[in-house]
Amino acid sequence: MRKFNADKLVVASHNAGKVREIAALMQPFGVKTISAADLDLPEPVEDGDSFIANAEIKARSAANLSGLVALADDSGLVVGALGGKPGIYSARWALNPETGQRDFVYGMAKLEEELQKVHGPREAYFICVLTLAWPPCADYPEGHVDSFEGRVNGRLVWPIRGENGFGYDPMFQADGYDITFGEMAAARKHDISHRAEAFKKLIKACFE
Ligand code: IMP
Repeated sequence: MRKFNADKLVVASHNAGKVREIAALMQPFGVKTISAADLDLPEPVEDGDSFIANAEIKARSAANLSGLVALADDSGLVVGALGGKPGIYSARWALNPETGQRDFVYGMAKLEEELQKVHGPREAYFICVLTLAWPPCADYPEGHVDSFEGRVNGRLVWPIRGENGFGYDPMFQADGYDITFGEMAAARKHDISHRAEAFKKLIKACFE
């Protein structure tokens, strides 16, 4: 594990919801964040076959192109009754073929339809892998990455509820709660989410 000792970090994402959550999580550590979109960095092809592989692709690409330490998040929703779908394809699952746009109301309705077909249990979890990547330097000619995983278990509700958060939040109720992530205040979600768990591990290993 390598310690972070710069004052600025690139958030290797073009997803405004994720960039906002990561900036809020980093703020107490006095680390300024700038997003890959702000730097006009291209989005790499995410062709890994796991969350960790995709997080590393994104973090390495942003670190190599910017020359700064980069933090990437690869995350998604895993539904056991659907054989783990949408999993690493969570973003693509929400692509509405009629509009060609990502549309999570459409994506959540499609999930509900599939769940009804299999009459399966509604358990699901969100998973997040955070990867911190350093650009190549004399000591690390290939660069360096450290990755951390977090999960939150829960179940999928229908109809969807709440307008907070992003993505599949209005359909996901974490174990022990009777409100969805879509109904939860941002600060509360930041305490208990998959991203929060991965983040705590990252802070312990690289920032403390
Ligand atoms: P990625 O950008 O390829 O990692 O896409 C992950 C997708 O998973 C996102 O587009 C969201 O739809 C979904 N996702 C990940 N984390 C969350 C979350 O905290 N709430 C809701 N949806 C999430």
